Amino acid sequence: MHAEKAPRTELLALVRSLRERVTVDGELGRPLAFLAGTGGAEADGGTTEQADGVAASLTGTVFGATLSGLEGVRAALGDCRRCALHGTRRRLVFGEGNPAADLVFVGEAPGADEDAQGRPFVGRAGQLLTRIIEAMGMKREEVYICNILKCRPPGNRNPEPGEIAACEPILISQIEAIGPRVICALGTFAAHTLLKSEAPISVLRGRFHDYHGIPLMPTYHPAFLLRNPGAKKQVWTDVQMIMKRLQDGG
Ligand code: SF4
Repeated sequence: MHAEKAPRTELLALVRSLRERVTVDGELGRPLAFLAGTGGAEADGGTTEQADGVAASLTGTVFGATLSGLEGVRAALGDCRRCALHGTRRRLVFGEGNPAADLVFVGEAPGADEDAQGRPFVGRAGQLLTRIIEAMGMKREEVYICNILKCRPPGNRNPEPGEIAACEPILISQIEAIGPRVICALGTFAAHTLLKSEAPISVLRGRFHDYHGIPLMPTYHPAFLLRNPGAKKQVWTDVQMIMKRLQDGG
């Protein structure tokens, strides 16, 4: 009996997994790409080229109407299950702010508050980020705020490489849709993911880097500033450079 049951259970699991995959691929507009062995930037790690390819497919269709821009990316994302974090999140945190913002802040991943509310940077670190934005002479609604990962890693553990690879195409699509003049990467993971560098954030910050033609300033994460208030001076230096770049029209 058991010898017959095991293959049947395996087959049912395979069918279930295949059905989920087809649903997700359909939502992302890449029907059955995996059957051709293209795979995309999946949880086992993907290349930038793969990520770019998947990002290019993130155009949403709702009831037959094609949505463009950020709305299209959000619609295409749907109830994303591209990595295991979908199983532990409470809410997916897509991002919020001005869909045509000049300045985009990119953090690491949602924390407990963000996971509960479905909004980025709403905890203590988020309140500090809001004060930084206001000190720059802007309102929070004028900029766009998002994270590398859209779902909270359990217990706020560090993002895993496979999760970053699975989620990065979504961020690329967001940035493409917004078309910002400047990007500010908040903290080590955002800077490392966007710049494909492993240099310490203390080395990367303080100067602009090139992100596909967009000036990118890495700086310390607001959560780091809560633990190390002395670093606020460096962050202020970094955001002043951003302000100058925005004012100069460069
Ligand atoms: S972290 Fe990103 S890739 Fe993973 S389930 Fe959430 S939205 Fe999808």
